[in-house]
Amino acid sequence: MMFSVVKKDGNARTGLLELSRGVIHTPAFMPVGTIGTVKAMSPDELKEIGAEIVLSNTYHLYLRPGHKIIESLGGLHAFMNWDRPILTDSGGFQVFSLSALRKIEDDGVHFKSHLDGSMHFLGPKEAMEIQAALGSDIAMVLDDCTPYPSTFEYAMDSLFRTLKWAEQCRELRREGQALFGIAQGSFYDKLRKKCIEELIDIGFDGYAVGGLSVGEPKEEMHRLICFTAPLLPKDRPRYLMGIGDLGDVLVAVEAGFDMFDCVMPTRNARNGTLFTSMGRVSIKREEFKADKGPLDPDCGCYTCRNYSKGYLRHLFLSREILSMRLNTIHNLYFYLNFFRNMRESVMEGKFTEFKARWQEIVS
Ligand SMILES: [Zn+2]
Repeated sequence: MMFSVVKKDGNARTGLLELSRGVIHTPAFMPVGTIGTVKAMSPDELKEIGAEIVLSNTYHLYLRPGHKIIESLGGLHAFMNWDRPILTDSGGFQVFSLSALRKIEDDGVHFKSHLDGSMHFLGPKEAMEIQAALGSDIAMVLDDCTPYPSTFEYAMDSLFRTLKWAEQCRELRREGQALFGIAQGSFYDKLRKKCIEELIDIGFDGYAVGGLSVGEPKEEMHRLICFTAPLLPKDRPRYLMGIGDLGDVLVAVEAGFDMFDCVMPTRNARNGTLFTSMGRVSIKREEFKADKGPLDPDCGCYTCRNYSKGYLRHLFLSREILSMRLNTIHNLYFYLNFFRNMRESVMEGKFTEFKARWQEIVS
């Protein structure tokens, strides 16, 4: 894996992340393909709108259909027919957020499947084995996601587990698969700083900040984004996990983050909330009933080039499958295009203007 910063504008930066399966232009948005599919989209459609990398979830694929099955079918790329890069999370976040019952121990976590109630164990060794079987291009270390709010003592205990697991994952790093470390430490600057320093000592291909957007106030999140970014190595990709609200993305790119993932564009699309150059739009609004105009006249996506708001509203209210498809094509195109324009603004030294213009619209 090679990473190079091409241009800086303040702390915002645009760069190239080169993997054997393709080049990713940063800042990059990674559509989420939780169980090996970006919901409602075929891989060809994803390529057509410019997706360069997708994210898949270890926890979900481990439980169903199972990483061994996927491995026997040629790995995740062959399984889902996606030949561009894939990043897999380690499963840590889902174990902590989805599993009703879990017991954290020093060497991993016992948890109950949210599907059938069966018991499982996930430690650093298992997380690395699963991701190796899936064959992702970028793997993530197993981390202990600290709930919000947490006491300093709890956050510190959790941090030591995260660091120990990170070290074990690093030892099990597989040739040809990049590995990113994840900084935790809740909302305590001292712990975040310590975690990042220790992760840098262990040495990773890239660095992520996790444990944000867990119920904290926005100001806290933004403060921590700005605090952590300059602590991360300048010559490695910096990934802000699970943050995809475009207002937050603008703050994070300004601070120097490079990679993002979020279910926001895809989930909202299925619920009829669409992102446009005029702000968010709920497609079910009565006023769109006989509207023959496109959803967003400034958008060049397949949906906006071919369908009216009246038709999109009709499909949504009739719960047609095509509604989810057309809405997802638009929302993902909008996101990927937003990132394209953001990269261009950094290239031209105009990120401040870009941020000022979009902040109003997207918040
Ligand atoms: Zn569109």
